[in-house]
Amino acid sequence: MSDTSYAFAPPAVVSVPVLGRPERFPVHRVYCVGRNYEEHAKEMGFTGREPPFFFLKPADAVVVADAGQTATIHYPSLTQNLHHEIELVVAIGVGGKHIKAADAAKHIYGYAVGLDMTRRDLQNDMKKQGRPWCIGKAYDQSAPIGPITLAAEAGAVNEAPIWLQVNGADRQRSTVAKLIWNVAETIEHLSAAWELQAGDLIYTGTPEGVAAVVSGDTLHGGVDGLTPISVRVA
Ligand code: MN
Repeated sequence: MSDTSYAFAPPAVVSVPVLGRPERFPVHRVYCVGRNYEEHAKEMGFTGREPPFFFLKPADAVVVADAGQTATIHYPSLTQNLHHEIELVVAIGVGGKHIKAADAAKHIYGYAVGLDMTRRDLQNDMKKQGRPWCIGKAYDQSAPIGPITLAAEAGAVNEAPIWLQVNGADRQRSTVAKLIWNVAETIEHLSAAWELQAGDLIYTGTPEGVAAVVSGDTLHGGVDGLTPISVRVA
């Protein structure tokens, strides 16, 4: 090993458990796709198929919700309108740039269920002012995720039902088949802009039904074929 010394202990590697495996998936970056289901684009005031666009969250915004457990996130500061967005998450196992959609599957390690938690009021303020979304999207604990299922064991996630319940009542229910830009197309577009690396996570977008949660709420969501996620807002 090198004898590099640091001014203080470097941050711990953020990692996600892998179903049926002892090894964990170390997180490099967290990419997110905006407005990638038509009915959600409409509820946000947009229509039509626009080119995909992306934003990022820091890797340490990830909160792991282990299988069969309820993870806790804290109601974040500065907001009065904390929204849930249930999403299919793609875990990249082999990096690359300018990946063609036809080759995308070779780069996918597995899939998980994630929540793109959003301080909607702050995001909307930033949108109005033409400023970056970071404060609305990339805050601490904004990226809960369940365990990763290996791609070979995940079944037909591209056509799977995707759903979210809050305190047992349906909030979001759609199918991944309704993605405007599917997983392979998303990887093609994303890898044209950034060089993907093993360890990258891609939150692929949320269907319609986004709404507010408050302290004490429990979110339970899934993509059929993957481990569901349970998160309580403290
Ligand atoms: Mn989202």
